[in-house]
Amino acid sequence: MRKLIVTTLALAFAAGTLFATGAAEAKDKKFISIGTGGPTGVYFIVGQSICRLVHKAAAEGRKTGRKHGIRCSAPSTGGSTYNIGQIREGELDFGVAQSDWQFHAYNGSSKFKGKAFKKLRAVFSVHPEPYHIIVGKNSGIKSWADLKGKRFNIGNPGSGQRGTTEVLMEKYGTKKSDFKIATELTSTEQSKALCDGKIDAYGYTVGVPNAGVSIATDGCGAKIINLMTSVEKGLVDANPFYAFATIPKGTYKTTDADVTTFGVMATFVTSADVAEKVVYEVVRAVFENLDDFRKLHPAFKNLDPKLMIKNALSAPLHPGAVKYYKEKGWM
Ligand code: GLU
Repeated sequence: MRKLIVTTLALAFAAGTLFATGAAEAKDKKFISIGTGGPTGVYFIVGQSICRLVHKAAAEGRKTGRKHGIRCSAPSTGGSTYNIGQIREGELDFGVAQSDWQFHAYNGSSKFKGKAFKKLRAVFSVHPEPYHIIVGKNSGIKSWADLKGKRFNIGNPGSGQRGTTEVLMEKYGTKKSDFKIATELTSTEQSKALCDGKIDAYGYTVGVPNAGVSIATDGCGAKIINLMTSVEKGLVDANPFYAFATIPKGTYKTTDADVTTFGVMATFVTSADVAEKVVYEVVRAVFENLDDFRKLHPAFKNLDPKLMIKNALSAPLHPGAVKYYKEKGWM
């Protein structure tokens, strides 16, 4: 990293020095983008929070002379598999992705069959994401089997929930034609559609609590159902990236008892092609300010660095992340 040390001697050559500095700074400047999810999801807050901390580190660096030159943006996107695809294309530098899709993308399994992304790199894991089936107040749906003949939102292509819903459909032997309609609404559209009576239920993999889910539950009496049959048990037993998850009683107005379902972890990923220095600075900005990060969303409250650097990560860690974790003595 270039340091600007102002000495009397340097001041004497101020004009020349400033010119040289300006040019070097422009060359050092790096714009990074982080793929998130829908604007009402938790991924969007993960991305916005990381950028906020990267910019905080930049502001501190301007005072101390430890400049990293990174400018960060975290646009809303279609979700997990869209983000992984765009990282592969070099269109995004980082992204948030469900642990199941990180695993499948790196290993070339499930929807990534024959399309393994061997340059996918893990950075850290973030919050747990239970898979929710949210059903309309008067829909009478109590289980996966009850979705038959109903209007069910399977999610937009590119979202993590779309993929995880397809895995469940396969395991339950449910075809699209078993639903009255299978809609492909985004996470932002689905709660309104449920409250407007346009769909009967939707599947969503998301952190707890979530503003979008609360529109449907607190807003129009929708409920989250339990998913713990032999199908989910089989999925959890057979795959390291799934685990049972509880949505605690009282999370939303209609959560009058704990909900048991299965879920994944949200993870932060990048490509081996992203420079070590860039990944190091992003990771450093997050972990040096982890207390700030924890306060930015209730789902981040219990984040523990020792778990974040290993839990739910199946792609190799990026060397820029490893460098920081080793410096901290965590590895
Ligand atoms: N898990 C969802 C996905 O992979 C996104 C959830 C969120 O936006 O918080 O697309």
